[in-house]
Formats: sequence, structure tokens, C-alpha cells
Amino acid sequence: MYLLKMIFSVIILGSSAALPTSQRYPTAQALQVDEQVFLIDCAEGAQMQLRRYKIKLRQIRAVFISHLHGDHVFGLPGLLSSLSLLDRTEPLDVFGPPYLEEWIAGYMKYFTPPVFPLQFHTLTADEPEIIYEDKRMTVACFPLKHRIPTWGYLFREKGKPLNIRKDMIDFYHIPIRDIRAIKAGADYRTEEGKLISNKQLTHPPVPPVLMPFVQIRFILTNCRRWSKALICCITKQLMETTENHGREKRSIQRLRMPPVLLLPPKPGN
Ligand SMILES: [Zn+2]
Repeated sequence: MYLLKMIFSVIILGSSAALPTSQRYPTAQALQVDEQVFLIDCAEGAQMQLRRYKIKLRQIRAVFISHLHGDHVFGLPGLLSSLSLLDRTEPLDVFGPPYLEEWIAGYMKYFTPPVFPLQFHTLTADEPEIIYEDKRMTVACFPLKHRIPTWGYLFREKGKPLNIRKDMIDFYHIPIRDIRAIKAGADYRTEEGKLISNKQLTHPPVPPVLMPFVQIRFILTNCRRWSKALICCITKQLMETTENHGREKRSIQRLRMPPVLLLPPKPGN
């Protein structure tokens, strides 16, 4: 079930609380960005859900763990083992709280270590911080309030160029060599020397996708600027989701993670 299908697709692999149920696995989400997959939490059953949703394990680029409670992380050793069995060679980046690396190192003492480079990134920041960046997006972590050290993650698509108006290209006979500069914000000077402002020539770009993974009740009050932005973003998504699926808006109160978690995954749909 794809709940946000733009450039980014979010697939909820597990949305249960601490105990798995016959209908829901514990917490795990897959964020697909083009051919790459980013896992956010990796509880028991995450691998099976990935299979059910036909997400190739080799596409996993990085794993982001929110905190070291088992219902968010017990699927990780099994996933690492499977990636080795599949002869993965690409590095895997794992972001998470202190002791995640030690916990996995303990597991490796008794089982075969991964055959691919495993790169841990231990979170320590007590302020929002960008921890990952590629050509399409950035990922920031931000601390949350829970019984143990916990972080949320904000995936943000990078800004897109302005959209140039085709009618303006024709009207001013703008050569192809100037189009890139105009899309980047430049004005245009005609052959007669007349300056045409960029605003006249372009439409604003589509707003970037902003995708938070956070348990609302864990949001820190000392992180107000981010909290407000996050809650607005999450609430907006919830409204859209509830409208689309006929759920009542009071469901906000029961929200644990992004609103999409209100809808239990139904493999095969
Ligand atoms: Zn917890």
C-alpha cells in the first residue's frame, strides 16, 4: 500500500506497539527515493514485509534507528545476515543512538560478520543536525523525549529549479544555452538589450517533499521551532490521509508516528 506516491514513496512495514499482533508487525518504515530505499527503524518482521512489498533488499541504502527498544530494532541483525547471504558488496550506513554499534558488534561475535562494509553513525546531537545528504535529499536527526536516548528523522527533498514558461521562450526567442541560468534564477537580456526579469519568465518550483518520522508524544519542548514545523507537516498529512480514507480527524490523538501509520499495512493490496 503506497501512501505517498510522489518522488518519495513511504511503505509502512510495521506499525504495532511493543508487541506484534497477528495483524501488525512492530515499527519499521521503508522510504523509497527513486531506486534507493531507506529504512526507518527495523523491528522484527521487517524483512518479511520488505519481501511482501517486493522491495529488493539490495536497494537498501541506509538504516535509521530511532532508539534501542527492541520493537524498533530487533529486525536489524537478521537483515544484516540476509544482506551477507545475498553477497552485498556496497557499504550500508546505519544511523542510530549510542550502543547500537556495540549491540551489533556483540551479535557479530557469535555469528558471521557482514561481508560488506558496515558504517555506523552514532547520534549524539542535542540539536537538529543534518546527518545524511545526497543529490536528491538531506536527512536531519532531532532529539526526542523518551525513557532512553531517542531521535526522530526528517527527510527533505532538495529544492528544484524554477519552471521556465514555454510561452516566454517562444516570445523572447530564448536560446537553449540560456535556459539553465534562467531556471537557476537569472534574468534574461534580449538581443536588443532589454532586461527581462526572472519572475516574468518562470513559475515557482513544486515545493520539496518533507517527510518526518517521529512519535509526536516524544517531541521535545526545547526544540520548538522544529516541533512546530513537524507538527504542521504531520497534521497536514494526517488530514489528507484521513480525508482520503474516511477516517475521523480525532484519530490525531492516537497518532504514534507519521499519520500513515493509522492505516495498517495489508500486504498484497
Ligand atoms: Zn520506545
